Amino acid sequence: MRKQIVAANWKMNGSSELVRQLVPAVRDSVASLDNAVEVVIMPPSLFASEAKGELAGSPVMLGVQNVARWQSGAYTGELSAAMAADIGCHYALVGHSERRQLFGETDDIAAEKVLRVLESGLAVMLCVGETLEEREAGDAEAVVCRQVEIALSGLDSAAADRVVVAYEPVWAIGTGRTATAEDAQAMHRTLRDRLSDMGLPANEMSLLYGGSVKPDNAGALFAQPDIDGGLIGGASLKADDFIAICQAA
Ligand code: 13P
Repeated sequence: MRKQIVAANWKMNGSSELVRQLVPAVRDSVASLDNAVEVVIMPPSLFASEAKGELAGSPVMLGVQNVARWQSGAYTGELSAAMAADIGCHYALVGHSERRQLFGETDDIAAEKVLRVLESGLAVMLCVGETLEEREAGDAEAVVCRQVEIALSGLDSAAADRVVVAYEPVWAIGTGRTATAEDAQAMHRTLRDRLSDMGLPANEMSLLYGGSVKPDNAGALFAQPDIDGGLIGGASLKADDFIAICQAA
């Protein structure tokens, strides 16, 4: 179902102390929000169980930032989607640009991971986005459409209610340089049209924007008709900023 979502991607930041400080603060503030935003926290996987304990009884959901592309077996150091489901996660990120750029994750690998996530019963948050070079070459739309087409190529439309797509232009991640609300909206419209062309119920799917979302730009971004919330990196590590972004949804 299409809904407003604000998700925290802590990346490789934080500690169990941060979990004990930040997660209860978010939990308690979300309880008094008067909007219907769905809030998701994705800490490093080592802290997911501890975060889950802090979220007992709260509607705030838990996610992991990555899963293996295999179900189980001799893959030392990897964590499976089923394990994330086992400890009570709702979401798994797939295809974040840092995974693509630093760990060689291709569109085909993202497609395998999407299937693992869905077969484990979790919802997937698929990240797509172009680099600055690709944008300057006029290829942004083609790149983003290719990423979504390949990663979701095995998707049964009945599972589309467990698929969220996050548009994160690589040049906007951690740079303080955010896409304008109009540019982000245009890409979200393109993405929604493409999802529809793929036979998916695009109007029922949530599309998030990510890349230097802060309390002072979240309102304008989230007011766009095709932007259904945000995927937040740096600002999700500060309770006040993250809560303000949740309020803006
Ligand atoms: P920043 O909000 O730090 O730019 O990170 C965005 C991001 O990559 C979220 O997944």
